[in-house]
Amino acid sequence: ALATEKYKHFLKHYGHLAIKIEISIGDYDLPPDDLAAADLVIMTYEKLDSMLRSARGNLAGTFGCLVIDEIHVMGEQERGPRLESLVIRATRALGDVQVIALSATVANPVQLNEWLSRLGHDTTLLLSKARPVPLEYEIVVGNDNVGTITSILEKVAAEGGQCLIFTRSRRRAELLARQLASTCQACAPPETYQARVELAFRAKRGSKYTDLPPLLVKGIAYHHAGLAAPERDLVEHAFIHRHIMAICCTTTLSAGINMPARAVILDDYKQFSVHEKDVADKGRFLRSGNSPTMFKPIPRNTFHQIVGRAGRAGFDDKGTAYILVHSRDEAKWIDDYYFTRDAKDGGTLAPAYDPLQSALSNRHVMLEQLLVFANEVQDLSYDDVKAFFAMSFYTHMLGKADQSMDTALRIRHATARDFIVGVTLPPGKLLAILEANANRVAGTLTDTITQQRAECQLTAAGGFSCTCGAKPGGGFRAACDHLRLVVQEVLNKQPGLARNLDGMLAAALREECYVDFLIDNGFLEQVADGAYHCTPFGSLVARLYVYPTIAVFIKQRLLERVSAPATGDVLPFEPWFYKLVKDVQDEHNSSYSPSLFHGAWHWMEEAGMDVVLEPFRQPIPALRTLIPATDDPVYPGDFNNFKSDMQRWARVAGKIAQHFGMAAIEAGCLALERRMDHGVRAELLPLVENLKGVGRIRGRMLFRAGCKAIEDVQDANPDALSKVTGLPVQTCERIINSAREWQPVEDGDGEESN
Ligand SMILES: [Zn+2]
Repeated sequence: ALATEKYKHFLKHYGHLAIKIEISIGDYDLPPDDLAAADLVIMTYEKLDSMLRSARGNLAGTFGCLVIDEIHVMGEQERGPRLESLVIRATRALGDVQVIALSATVANPVQLNEWLSRLGHDTTLLLSKARPVPLEYEIVVGNDNVGTITSILEKVAAEGGQCLIFTRSRRRAELLARQLASTCQACAPPETYQARVELAFRAKRGSKYTDLPPLLVKGIAYHHAGLAAPERDLVEHAFIHRHIMAICCTTTLSAGINMPARAVILDDYKQFSVHEKDVADKGRFLRSGNSPTMFKPIPRNTFHQIVGRAGRAGFDDKGTAYILVHSRDEAKWIDDYYFTRDAKDGGTLAPAYDPLQSALSNRHVMLEQLLVFANEVQDLSYDDVKAFFAMSFYTHMLGKADQSMDTALRIRHATARDFIVGVTLPPGKLLAILEANANRVAGTLTDTITQQRAECQLTAAGGFSCTCGAKPGGGFRAACDHLRLVVQEVLNKQPGLARNLDGMLAAALREECYVDFLIDNGFLEQVADGAYHCTPFGSLVARLYVYPTIAVFIKQRLLERVSAPATGDVLPFEPWFYKLVKDVQDEHNSSYSPSLFHGAWHWMEEAGMDVVLEPFRQPIPALRTLIPATDDPVYPGDFNNFKSDMQRWARVAGKIAQHFGMAAIEAGCLALERRMDHGVRAELLPLVENLKGVGRIRGRMLFRAGCKAIEDVQDANPDALSKVTGLPVQTCERIINSAREWQPVEDGDGEESN
């Protein structure tokens, strides 16, 4: 949505100049000729990233200047590491390119600029504190939030302004909108009434699963990620055109399109709160004053993005942000946490931001980025790998590590010397070595007071264990100090065993070393001169935009299915695939509600949207034991995201199956992807995929009337078809014409050939 907004903006303001402006987003590919002819291309980070992956890093001369808007996205968990890697790789691939990075919320711009300069750009840092419209903050103490918001709304409306009200949950946003509806109705200008009624009519036509229409008539709406995209667009449109007085929303709206208001009200600055007696790790929570309630606040940068929505350039001479709190202690807390006082400026409040941190720190993303880099650099040497990570913002921010850099980055095996850095025997502990030879090292640590004992061992076969429960798999930084102390002691007493210890650690932690993981799982191979080479499978996974760890997981499941004995209890394809997606989600730590799986199944079986959105009334028997149903209703916005995720996983699994020659699974994935796209059983696919104006409902009507293939429709007579289907004659004519224009597609495999 943001890219589209930018595109329209540039067209409007610069379209009259002799500049050719193009947009390239989502699955839509800009033809190479259009790309070459364009002077300015608006694209998402992901679009440029996949261009780079497909071209295997060969895009020299394509662009002369790269503008990276909102570069602070680099700090986000999911998109962050991919953007960070993109900046490094684009610099390399685009050759002599000028880089301009923009952000309004970075506390450490100097460090960021140093990093960009280190990539070879020699960038200059430009700082500006100017805001087009000055912003005032007001922290309001009180216990009646609805009452407070009502009076702010009335005041702002009297001045002819609008309010954005941010709150913590979807449910709260909807509730607030209902509670504030009569206030809005009373202060909405009568001349907008007609427009509001029209909006309500459009909202009603779009969906019958929300109570937005009556709210819109009264001049208010709610907005959150659970709404379907057309409804969100409608609400945004209503606000931008000043037809409604207020929107109650979750923080989703703070990152969306540019939508300023005279006033922003923050109903709740806490993301999550809990009584102190229920908090195990108190370091992760905050509190204000002596309150027994602990909480997690909205992150600083998000907070300022929210309140920064106040003040419309060209309309308001100032914007006001109201932050609602319940006590003086909380007010003080807000003041200290989110603001600094500018001493030079008479003590006025200035925003305090969080420093930008690299998110390139977890195993999934490190492995992915190493693979992506290997895909773009043929014959990658060990030094290239080291140089790639050394160029990262992650390394730049890490500064002096406690281990040597390449062990810390896990691109080299930890030696025994790396392994023991920083450990010392604590007082009151007794260390004893039980065995130390080339095959096995074992020892115990005993607490002299409690007599608690830990026993650990390391073997040449690559085993390592400790009675404290530490396991390999968490990285060698996560290995317990018991083992470190034992290794340290053996190194001191028997230095001759150092090489054996190195070997034992390398074997025990082999999975932990990124390069080895990629080699062991078939993404990379080592060629004669020691360089690493990306295999066809590695290249496929890099282009599929999926973590190597997840690709290995999927490949394993596919192999299990293929090699299952024919006589065994093999699940039918679809329930098996649903379970696979569920397990992939769990590996990803993103938990979708089980309701979505049951809803999606109903969708593929052509059930109505009322059933899809409330699947708990009719859970799917085939899924019952695999993914037990719960009674959560499904939000349309979540369902749409889930549907595209299911399609994406079907595409990924299908491509992996194709690569390994598993034709049956490949076909199953393809059919499932197409059925998920249209919400139909397989028999309707030819009709809904090829006839204009034919969706799942009309497709089923045609099928019931005996039109099972395009040819059946081509031969039909409009009047007769209308009679048997019940569709209007004109509609039938259009469908028949579309069937007659249809041409069978040549059966080639043009896709993914690059
Ligand atoms: Zn231990």
